[in-house]
Amino acid sequence: MDVPWLLVAHGSLTALVVVSFLCGQWPIFEGTFVQSINHFLTSGAYRHFLRLVQASCGNGARDLVLGVEQYCCDRPNPILQLFYVAIIGGSYIIIVQTSFKYIPGYYVSVWHRYLSIVVVSIGAILFALTSFSDPGTVTSENVSQYVSAYPFDNIIFVEKECSTCKIIRPARAKHCRICDRCVARFDHHCGWMNNCIGEKNTRYFVAFLLWHFLLCMYGAVILAFIIAGELKVKKVIYILTVYYGVDNSFSGLFPHVAQWLLAVHNTQILLAVFLGIIALLLGGFCAYHVHLCLSNTTTNESFKWQDYIFWMKKENAARASAAVLKASISGASSEAQEPAPSKWKTFFSRSQTPAEEPVVKNNIYDVGWIRNLWEVIVPLSERRSFSRRKSD
Ligand SMILES: [Zn+2]
Ligand SMILES: [Zn+2]
Repeated sequence: MDVPWLLVAHGSLTALVVVSFLCGQWPIFEGTFVQSINHFLTSGAYRHFLRLVQASCGNGARDLVLGVEQYCCDRPNPILQLFYVAIIGGSYIIIVQTSFKYIPGYYVSVWHRYLSIVVVSIGAILFALTSFSDPGTVTSENVSQYVSAYPFDNIIFVEKECSTCKIIRPARAKHCRICDRCVARFDHHCGWMNNCIGEKNTRYFVAFLLWHFLLCMYGAVILAFIIAGELKVKKVIYILTVYYGVDNSFSGLFPHVAQWLLAVHNTQILLAVFLGIIALLLGGFCAYHVHLCLSNTTTNESFKWQDYIFWMKKENAARASAAVLKASISGASSEAQEPAPSKWKTFFSRSQTPAEEPVVKNNIYDVGWIRNLWEVIVPLSERRSFSRRKSD
């Protein structure tokens, strides 16, 4: 019994580390130990490691580590792409080696052996499309068309030149410091894809997220059906109740069934839990990006809007308090000449002080969810009207 519980503890710890690393900065984890683990994993552990390297091997070794970090984080590199291939390929090979022997099973028909190859291949094709396609690089040849296609809103996008590319940076574009180019309708630079996500490949990126979410769900469900089929074929419940006299109730059977599952099918359980956790993470990320597509916003713009709303609220609050101060000064000077107002009058006059103006997010690119979605599926630069556009 020791080994299965060790596996469960190992699986739980892995899940905690993965969730903390990927989601520890989400607002729901604020102030929790998940956020603390995230801080440690993302910055604290690295700082300690650098100090350790410096203390044990000197400044040269520390500079070497910093150089590797710069290559991994600030330069285009295929490290995470290879990691993705290793995870997908490794998981599929482990599933083939450990679980295909149960297919066909009581609940799982033989065609899942072939369907699994097809769905994994489609996932790999979407990965390649997102990784190796042009995200919408802005060049001196197409800049005028992009400027014309995306008008400046003069709120979060104002007309200015990119200091590196020396061309006007169209609204919604951003200069990616990793790829060293301006990308139209820039969403973010994706390390997993080693590519920017922009105007032309957001469709592949969202399809990739959606497909991998469904792929992981599919794997987890099939593994669960394999386990359920084995329980049925091996007549575990029948043997437990008839031969071992276990009480035929959920509370009576659960510990014995769990013990059998962890002893015989711990690999399938771990794989199903792993796929389930990845599916949840991908599902959340995918839902966020679908929401962005439907509202015609990008990740880059959502940060810009956050900043804009934060500063506008501050400005409005300052303006409102200045107005209150002005009103109280003029009230004090008039009080000297007029008789003191009643308490009721003072109470109501307070409610007349200028309230803070609400901050409105006016996204001019939002043209209704159907057209927004269509803009992602068929980017503006791939439409016939785009080549006819001129900014002047
Ligand atoms: Zn640029
Ligand atoms: Zn980039």
